[in-house]
Amino acid sequence: MIPSKFDYIKANSVSEAISLLGKHSDAKLLAGGHSLLPAMKLRLNQPELLVDIGGISELQSISEDGDAIVVGANCTHVEIANSDLVAKHTQALAQAAAAIGDVQVRNAGTIGGSLAHADPAADYPAVVMAHDATILVEGPAGKREIASGDFFQGLFETGVEDNEVITGVKFPKSSNGVYLKFAQSASRFAVVGCAAIKTSSGVQVGLTGVADTAYRASGVEAAFNGTNATEAANHAVDGVEVLGDHFASSEYRTHLTKVYVKKALEALG
Ligand SMILES: Cc1cc2nc3c(=O)[nH]c(=O)nc-3n(C[C@H](O)[C@H](O)[C@H](O)COP(=O)(O)OP(=O)(O)OC[C@H]3O[C@@H](n4cnc5c(N)ncnc54)[C@H](O)[C@@H]3O)c2cc1C
Repeated sequence: MIPSKFDYIKANSVSEAISLLGKHSDAKLLAGGHSLLPAMKLRLNQPELLVDIGGISELQSISEDGDAIVVGANCTHVEIANSDLVAKHTQALAQAAAAIGDVQVRNAGTIGGSLAHADPAADYPAVVMAHDATILVEGPAGKREIASGDFFQGLFETGVEDNEVITGVKFPKSSNGVYLKFAQSASRFAVVGCAAIKTSSGVQVGLTGVADTAYRASGVEAAFNGTNATEAANHAVDGVEVLGDHFASSEYRTHLTKVYVKKALEALG
């Protein structure tokens, strides 16, 4: 469990981090280290250089931007769980952050690192999908925004380029949202995680843990009329190839997904 040899540089700004990524083809960003370092210890990842972005204060804030909340990439899970702004305007995000891992993971892990890692069982992707959030990134060509639907591209794959830094996530405000998960008993990763928010035109439902990548349960959204949670939840895996593994067979995960979608719709009130 010892990683291969690597160099380490602490970046003081986003532009410095981008410049370091440009100069070193085998460099990786280091945020909270709670996904990258275990992968390095298992030698699944062997970067020659770690660019530590953990101390960059411009990535640390949570702020209001009109009808959205912008969460900096370096915000830790505990900072998000404890934020008054997040609790007021994006409850599903607050609940997801509070449900991640254990105290050590929540104190060190960041939303930017979690989204960049794109673990299919991570919690935030369901919330990002349900809110139709926008991922803010910056690279050598400047700043750009990635819609949630274009961000998660497959198992551990995102729309972020190797020379780009996620700087934050923009969540449209919602006054009624919920995140519920059936957690793996050891790590607390989601076997199934469901985020649901109520909007002026209906509900938006995001699911994680169920497939290779998080997705919007559009069949549920189309079927839900405010009172038929059980019937709408039957559409939770429409068109989806449901994962099966040693935590849950595909059949059991399908069942759990419908149960958690129903619970989330009922919890919205
Ligand atoms: C025991 C344990 C239990 C866990 N349980 C859960 C759980 O229940 N739910 C859950 O969702 N997660 C869980 N996690 C994962 C945890 O949330 C990680 O903290 C998170 O996935 C990665 O965030 P990080 O800041 O630690 O990123 P790092 O490990 O530092 O980086 C992860 C990846 O993202 C890249 N990266 C980091 N920041 C950026 C950025 N700003 N822009 C672009 N790329 C970036 C890195 O280069 C690396 O490839 C668990 C982890 C552990 C060790």
